[in-house]
Amino acid sequence: MAVLKTLDHSLNGGLWLDGHKAISLIQGIQNWPTPSQVMLPLLDKNGARRALVSVGERVKAGQCVAICDGIAGSALHAPYAGTVRQITTLPNAQMVIDMHLSPSSEPCTLLEASTLLQRIDAAGIVGMGGAGFATARKLGQPVETLIINAAECEPYITCDEALLREYAAEVVEGAKLAQTAVGAKRLIIGIENNKTEAIEALKQHDGFELIAVPPKYPSGGERQLIELLLGVRLSPGQRPVEQGLAVINVHTAYAINNANDGRPLTQRVVTITGSAVATPANYWLPIGLPVKVVLNTLGIAANARVRLGGAMMGRPTDPNLAVIGKTSNCLLIETPVDSTPVSPCIRCGVCEPVCPEGLLPAQMHFATQPFARDMLERYHLSACIECACCDHVCPSAIPLAMQFGLAKQQLNTLKQAERSAQRAGERHSAREARLERLAAEKKARMEAKKAALKKRTAK
Ligand code: SF4
Ligand code: SF4
Repeated sequence: MAVLKTLDHSLNGGLWLDGHKAISLIQGIQNWPTPSQVMLPLLDKNGARRALVSVGERVKAGQCVAICDGIAGSALHAPYAGTVRQITTLPNAQMVIDMHLSPSSEPCTLLEASTLLQRIDAAGIVGMGGAGFATARKLGQPVETLIINAAECEPYITCDEALLREYAAEVVEGAKLAQTAVGAKRLIIGIENNKTEAIEALKQHDGFELIAVPPKYPSGGERQLIELLLGVRLSPGQRPVEQGLAVINVHTAYAINNANDGRPLTQRVVTITGSAVATPANYWLPIGLPVKVVLNTLGIAANARVRLGGAMMGRPTDPNLAVIGKTSNCLLIETPVDSTPVSPCIRCGVCEPVCPEGLLPAQMHFATQPFARDMLERYHLSACIECACCDHVCPSAIPLAMQFGLAKQQLNTLKQAERSAQRAGERHSAREARLERLAAEKKARMEAKKAALKKRTAK
């Protein structure tokens, strides 16, 4: 049995928030009725996918229908048997496979791959806590310590907690498989100390360190959890692997266990909650389920406000376009209320002490209006984890985290353009040098020929 170690120190900054979690944990994880169609996105933030099927083709449940050629993306599998009805582009520029589902007793297609990493790759597993980065790539780099992030700190979200209550054995098994893949000596499961039922479920197993952290938001941020558990503070932009560390989410560990048994990632647990939801709960939802189907099935008014994710880091979404993806942990659905109007910054400074990264949100806010790259880099914009603690306390209701997220995208685009320009410049210089060298060699050959000719003529 795992022995629980409880930390008494909490993270710097952050907020003690009302979790609003108990209501979605009253009942166990619910099954979802088989929908009439799913829409599988061929484009996500980690890369574009290439369809392996064509319109009219019959696919089996679990069949791989699209792959990603980039290193960070993942393959997609059909959650049900059906017929590909459409491969198209939506107004939001996502490609989708629109499948007409048919009832089937065919068994799920099992993965065929020899090594664990190949199975994880073939199963299309990504960081399901939000990053969406291909897990096989992450686990391909050896580390000393593997952390399973069970500190689901964001208000309203309970999918990982529900999964641990019911499937702790599978999560622990997946965690141990991941530990073997990265060759880690230490395996730590970090969890908030108020998730008592999940902790009890984990304590029934062994082979890992179980550490409880105070439930202060955002203790489950990757950087924050590493610091809480190990006292290691990553510098801005530093990746955990550079310190011999890797962090994976609870649901990812569960999916790894499935992949080892040959089952691809075709469904996940999603918390459906909020003031517009009559009975908040966790559901097994198929990847690709349109959000509008969720609203229709639950009888939720069409004017409800939908956020993909929780109250802090979730983003407002159009239910007519959105689908459940591999990283969709929560649908927070609220009845519309008048929001506080945004007003100018009054330089009150209350946003500074709550920032878990020790940043200066007000200064960063001014540097985004208009976009001032030098200032934003000086204020370490890239270290912002978009936790929205600063938003939460801002009396002017400024959407700071959203501004910082957009500014980070703008900065990344500029940096990418600079890198491309630099690479193009290097290629141009290399070409010029090569042409110069070839010309010099040609000239030398011509001169040698002339000299030889002159010598022969002189005889
Ligand atoms: S959103 Fe960024 S700036 Fe604001 S508190 Fe979080 S980390 Fe700090
Ligand atoms: S909390 Fe809001 S109003 Fe106060 S300094 Fe920060 S950004 Fe400005």
